Amino acid sequence: MTFKTEVVVIGGGHAGIEAALACARMGVPTVMITMNIDQIGAMSCNPAIGGLAKGHLVREIDALGGEMARCIDATGIQFRVLNSSKGPAVRSFRAQADRRLYRARMIKTLEGQPNLLIRQGMVTKIVTEGNKITGVETALGERFECRAVALTPGTFMNGLIHIGLKSFPAGRAGDFASVGLSDSLKELGFEMGRMKTGTCPRLDRATIDFSRTQEQPGDEHPRPFSFFSDGIRQPQISCFITYTNDATHETIAGNLDRSPLYTGVIEGVGPRYCPSIEDKVKRFPEKNRHQIFLEPEGLETKEIYPNGLSTSLPVDVQLKFLRTIPGLEKVEIMRPGYAIEYDYCPPTQLHPTLETKLVNGLFFAGQINGTSGYEEAAAQGIVAGINSALYTKGGAQVTFHRQESYIGVMIDDLVTKGTSEPYRMFTSRAEFRLLLRQDNADLRLCDTGHRVGLLAKADYEAFSKKRERIQKELQEIENKRIKRDSVLDGESMFGGKIPEDGITLKDLLRRPEVAFNDLPKYARPDDLTEEEAEQIEITVKYEGYIKRQERLLEKTLESENKMFPPDFDFSQAPGLSSEVREKLVKIRPANLGQASRISGVTPAALTILHIYLEKLTQEQRRL
Ligand code: FAD
Repeated sequence: MTFKTEVVVIGGGHAGIEAALACARMGVPTVMITMNIDQIGAMSCNPAIGGLAKGHLVREIDALGGEMARCIDATGIQFRVLNSSKGPAVRSFRAQADRRLYRARMIKTLEGQPNLLIRQGMVTKIVTEGNKITGVETALGERFECRAVALTPGTFMNGLIHIGLKSFPAGRAGDFASVGLSDSLKELGFEMGRMKTGTCPRLDRATIDFSRTQEQPGDEHPRPFSFFSDGIRQPQISCFITYTNDATHETIAGNLDRSPLYTGVIEGVGPRYCPSIEDKVKRFPEKNRHQIFLEPEGLETKEIYPNGLSTSLPVDVQLKFLRTIPGLEKVEIMRPGYAIEYDYCPPTQLHPTLETKLVNGLFFAGQINGTSGYEEAAAQGIVAGINSALYTKGGAQVTFHRQESYIGVMIDDLVTKGTSEPYRMFTSRAEFRLLLRQDNADLRLCDTGHRVGLLAKADYEAFSKKRERIQKELQEIENKRIKRDSVLDGESMFGGKIPEDGITLKDLLRRPEVAFNDLPKYARPDDLTEEEAEQIEITVKYEGYIKRQERLLEKTLESENKMFPPDFDFSQAPGLSSEVREKLVKIRPANLGQASRISGVTPAALTILHIYLEKLTQEQRRL
C-alpha cells in the first residue's frame, strides 16, 4: 500500500509533536508515524517541564506557535519560578506535570489538528532517490511517499534497557525498540554513535511516610508558561524533600559489582549533568548526602517520582538503598529504575536548519541529535517542522541564530561542535543571556513565528498589542517628569532625594529600590498586565547592561554576516593546515562566525578564510 503526503514525521515524542504540529499548522499535509499512539507525549523520565534554561526553550517554542507551554499550563500541578531572587537572565519557569493528563491533552490536540494524520507503525527504511528524500517504509511494508521527513526517534533506535546485569531491547520501559531504522541510516552513509541515559524507580505513595520529609509547595500565584494562556485553573500540589545518607551510600557502593555501569556492560556515554545515584556516590565520595525530591506523578495516581535517584542497579539493591532514606523506610517500588543505551547520529552531519547534509529534505530532531530532555527535543522539533514545511513549499529555510534565541545557541553548538555526551541546555551556554531572557522570548520570536505562518493570527495580534503597550509606556515614563515638592512626603520610598529640577519616571525606575508599581503620580493604564509592567521594569533597570551586550552583539554579527556561498570549497582555501581544512570540510560552516566556533580553527585560519572569502566575493562581483 502506498500513501502520498507532503511531510512524514517519524515519532510522537516531544520533538515529533512540535514538528508535526508546525507542519500541519503551516498548511502542509503531514503524517505522523509513531510506534504507539497511546504513548504520544510520554515523559520518559521526570514528570516536569522547564527548569533553568529549559524554561527559556519552552517560552521560545511558545513564541513561535508551538504547543509545549500551552499543554503544561493546562496539565501542570505545581508551578514555580526558579531563581526568582536572582537577575532576570537566569529566572526560569518550572512546572510539575500530571503525566497522564499531559499525554491525553497532547493526543487530543494532535487529533484535532487539520492537515495531520496520525498513524501507528514502525518505520524501518528511509527511501531516497539520489541525494533526495522520497519517502519511508514501515515494518508492515507500507510505503509513505513524501517530499520531506522529520526524524525524531528519541531513545528508541536499537534501544537496550539495563537493570542490574540483565538487559533487554526496548525504546523505554514498556515500549518496543525501533529496529531497522539505524541500519537504513547507516546504508545512507550516516555516522552513528551510542549514548545512554537512565531514570529513577517509581514509588508507591501509600508506602511513604511524608511526616519524615520536608514539604515544598509551589508558588502561591502560579504563572503560566505560555504568553497566550489565561491562567492556571487546575489544583496545585506539594512536593517533598528528603536526603540520602551514609547507609544509602554504603548499600550502593557495596553493590557496584552488580551495576551495568561499573562492570563495563554499558558502552554508551551518559549525561554528565544528570548522573545516576551510583555515579554520584562514586564521583563525589566527600558528599555525605544527596537531596531527593519526591514528586507526585499526577493528581490521580499513587506513583511518586524520586527525583535524584536515577539508577540501573538490580531491583533488590534499589529497594534496599531506598529503604535507608528518611520517609522511605517501608517504601514499595511500582516500577524499577533503569538505564537505556540507544543509537544517535552525531549532529555535525546537519545544517543549522536541521536538514541533513547527506539527504535533502531529511531533517533530524531530538534525542537522535545527541541531546537529552523534553524541552531540547521540542525546540529542535519545531525547527525541523518549520523547515520541513518550508522545504516542501520551496521557500528559504529558517536558521535560528545564537544571538537571538536559546534554540539558536543549542543548534549552533550541536551542528558546529557536535556532542560526545547527552547535551542539555544551560544559561551559561548563551553568551548574550541578558538579551535572551525568558520574559522577552515573545519579543524575540513572535515575528518569526508569524512570518513563517505558524503562530496563529489571533495570537500574533495579541502579541503586537502587547508590544505596542510596552513601547508606549516606555515612552511615557521617559517623557513624564516629577518635581521634588510633589513627592516630598514619600521621598524614602524612592531610594533617596529627588533632584531639585525633578526627575523623569524612567530615571526614578532605574533606582534599585523603586518598582514600576511604586512610581508616583503615575496612572498605570488599565490594560497593562503584570507581565508587561515587569518587562518595562527589566528594560529600564538593566538598560546599561543590555546596551553593552547589544554593542557586543553588533560586533559578532559582522562575522556572522560573512556568509560562505553554499558551494564554497573549503578544501581549496590556501594556507590552511590539513587539520583545520579537514574540520571545515566536515562541518561546512555557514559563515565566518560559525567557523570561529569550531574547535581547532585558529585566529590565523580565520584571517586566511576571511581574505579568501573577500577575494572570491570581489572576483564574483567583477564577473
Ligand atoms: P522520545 O520522547 O523518546 O520519542 C520518540 C518517539 O519516536 C516515540 O513516540 C517513538 O514511538 C517514536 N519512534 C521511535 N522509533 C520509531 C520508528 N522507527 N517508527 C516510528 N516511530 C518511532 N531527559 C532529561 O532531560 N533528563 C533525564 O534525566 C532524562 N532521563 C531519561 C531517562 C530515560 C530512561 C529515558 C528513556 C529518557 C530520558 N530523558 C531524560 C530524555 C527524554 O525523555 C528525551 O530527551 C525526550 O523524550 C526526547 O524526545 P524525543 O522526541 O527526541 O524522543
